[in-house]
Amino acid sequence: MTNPSEGTTAAPLEVHSRNCPSCNAPPEAGRLLSYGSSAWPMRQCVCGFTYLDKAPVYAELSSNLAWEKSFKQESERRLREHRVSQKLSKSTRWRVRLFKRLNMPELIASSCSSGDVLDIGCATGGHLMKLPDGLRPFGIEISQALGEAAAAALAQRGGTAYIGPALDTMKKLETNRFSAIAMRSYLEHEAHPGPVLDEAFRILAPGGIVFVKVPNYNSVNRYIRGRAWCGFRLPDHLNYFTPATLTQMATSKGFAIEKPFMWCLPTSDNMWVRMVKKPDTAAAA
Ligand SMILES: [Zn+2]
Repeated sequence: MTNPSEGTTAAPLEVHSRNCPSCNAPPEAGRLLSYGSSAWPMRQCVCGFTYLDKAPVYAELSSNLAWEKSFKQESERRLREHRVSQKLSKSTRWRVRLFKRLNMPELIASSCSSGDVLDIGCATGGHLMKLPDGLRPFGIEISQALGEAAAAALAQRGGTAYIGPALDTMKKLETNRFSAIAMRSYLEHEAHPGPVLDEAFRILAPGGIVFVKVPNYNSVNRYIRGRAWCGFRLPDHLNYFTPATLTQMATSKGFAIEKPFMWCLPTSDNMWVRMVKKPDTAAAA
């Protein structure tokens, strides 16, 4: 079996070690999983959380591993190594069309009609530009090239894109500011998902909502396809959430989670969840 990480990076990367992002237990407290590699060990912690215990430093993410490059590399690798199963997977994509697909701008528009919206990992800002007029679009993007394109686009709507790591950028934003935050295919890449959710809670207005879309490690496809599952991207994907571990992390930060999850079909590779910063009952009284 070919190592899933081969071909994803050309040069050695500067890395840092990680404890469990959910309970902070050291890596040794978890068991090694065969889905990882010698360069990128994957572990399941005693608390149930699955993660890579090494992560590239943020500087690598801003250039060498920027999404637009790594996505292309990963697609090429998949095509090379899994030509048959890839074709099979593509040919059965009809299954996801059996149900209405979720769309981040529509979800946000259905939850709030005014205020500032923040998209973390906004790429060129395409989703934000689809928001209705009453919502001002802001994005955070770690890739310099994508962030500059987003900033230019969002300026037309009175917003902007902040270029840099999400956590550092969020720390500079005002408390209780945003009506909604989108984390679409982002949290699985984040080396510090817990502190990011802490900051999201702080900068959200009371009643504000975070929409999260991440790969579902409990997806049936992961069991069927094993190491060829599309949710495995080493070292891009650092965190492998299940409904249970995502709920655990979010509620530990103060969020209320809508159950059942909005979109968590066993046949879907991804899941969506709506996290709410419930207004403080004392403040609301
Ligand atoms: Zn843990």
